[in-house]
Amino acid sequence: ERVVVPDIRACDFLAGTAGLAAYVQAGIHAAQSTPLFSRGGSLLGMISTHWREPHEPAERDLQLLDVLARQAADLIERRHAEAERAALLVREREARTEAETLVQVGQALSGELELEALIQAATDAATQLSGAQFGAFFYNVVNQQGESYMLYTLSGVPRAAFAGYPMPRNTSLFGVTFRGEGIVRIDDVRADPRFGRNAPYFGLPPGHLPVVSFLAVPVISRSGEVLGGLFFGHAEPGMFTERAERLVTGIAAQAAIAIDNARLFEQAQQALHARDAFLAAAAHDLKSPLTTVKGLSQLLRRRVSGSGELDTARLLSGLATIDAGVTTVAAQIDELQDVARLQLGQPLSLQRQPTDLVLLARQAAATHRLPAGHHRIQVEAAEAALVGQWDPVRLKRVLDNLLGNAVKYSPDGGAITVTVTREADAAGDRAMLAVRDQGLGIPAADLPRVFERFHRGTNVSSQIAGSGIGLTSARWIVQQHGGSIAVESREGAGSTFTVRLPLEPPNDGTPDAREPAG
Ligand code: ADP
Repeated sequence: ERVVVPDIRACDFLAGTAGLAAYVQAGIHAAQSTPLFSRGGSLLGMISTHWREPHEPAERDLQLLDVLARQAADLIERRHAEAERAALLVREREARTEAETLVQVGQALSGELELEALIQAATDAATQLSGAQFGAFFYNVVNQQGESYMLYTLSGVPRAAFAGYPMPRNTSLFGVTFRGEGIVRIDDVRADPRFGRNAPYFGLPPGHLPVVSFLAVPVISRSGEVLGGLFFGHAEPGMFTERAERLVTGIAAQAAIAIDNARLFEQAQQALHARDAFLAAAAHDLKSPLTTVKGLSQLLRRRVSGSGELDTARLLSGLATIDAGVTTVAAQIDELQDVARLQLGQPLSLQRQPTDLVLLARQAAATHRLPAGHHRIQVEAAEAALVGQWDPVRLKRVLDNLLGNAVKYSPDGGAITVTVTREADAAGDRAMLAVRDQGLGIPAADLPRVFERFHRGTNVSSQIAGSGIGLTSARWIVQQHGGSIAVESREGAGSTFTVRLPLEPPNDGTPDAREPAG
């Protein structure tokens, strides 16, 4: 409410206060204060008037003050509203440019399928938009040997300025980003307890770019994998605003999607290449028995049409060879058909019948022993026969694949052992079949992927022909029987493939077909 003090020196509530002393010093004897209220009733300020003599303001003066107070309050309120509107407008404009910038960056990134160019574009955009002096994108890559290492792109500084620095390690500050734990924004790293704790540099390596303001954002793929991190620096403190953080976070999200896409694109390219290689290998496999068949049939015809005579034994042997060739081709076409089914995810229609795995193994070993020559193929079985309800043609194909690989990938020969044993399992008895060789083995990085369609080991892919489909189809056949297949191998020391098959089909009513994988 309004306060009127006609004589300051006689005023009770001012007696002895610093206010009184100030008034006296300024030569003021009387004062009044009229509050300014907004229309909504909140206090905006006051109008005070002072007199050099004791003074009792007239009623008319006070009424005039009320009018002035009302006008002043309205004016202030209007200014407040205008300022608020202007600030809103600025914020709205900022938000719009942010959104537009992110859309532009997103478009640029999504159009880029080449990983390095994409990462460079993301680093440049984020460095520029955050106001950083320099930015870096550190990202993990896995080489053909399966080792993970880190690459980086830079923006704002020449690469030479960075060369020779150690890669950031999982020290407490960088670790937050590389573990994908969250965003780090620091106004002054020199004052941050997380910074400079780790040997050998306790802070920045000597000669490091001067970082005072620091911003780091993890780049995380759809699957949750941390792909890398975006890091920004500035030599001045407090350079990275909340807005910079928002923009960089937006770019990190888009970069993650673009990197995922670039990877998928590369995988698709590889798959296409692998499929072409498969088609070429399949055509080649079909052709060689056909060439034999054609050659033999032409020879027989020439003999018959030439002299009109051909001894029966020769004719029969020729026909037998032709028959065998045609059978091979037919089996290969069956296999192709199965592979096509597998690609389409259609289950095989298994022709289950009592099948002796020991016998199948001995037959397969005999076929592969012939061309192998310098390989010693042995079959070890504790029982004379091990009979299960299986599809013999499909199981023979699994055996042919495993034995064929054992021979093919042991170019220096060596012992190949096929073991057949019975195992007791909670769900009933099952057969265990192992094919062990002493050949090239499989690199650790390829091991988890050898059953994938078209995947071939890096140690063999350029030297030994193959299509990368054999193990995929073997696994599928085994899985359709309700069984499993596994591999153990060490590069240079040989491989062991182990198949486990229930003797009886699962009787829980569910089809024994499982999703083909890979
Ligand atoms: P392919 O032999 O036609 O390439 P597979 O699907 O049969 O296709 O095998 C996939 C890959 O697994 C092979 O390319 C090879 O790298 C690896 N592999 C399979 N069997 C063996 C083995 N016995 N020894 C070494 N590597 C093997």
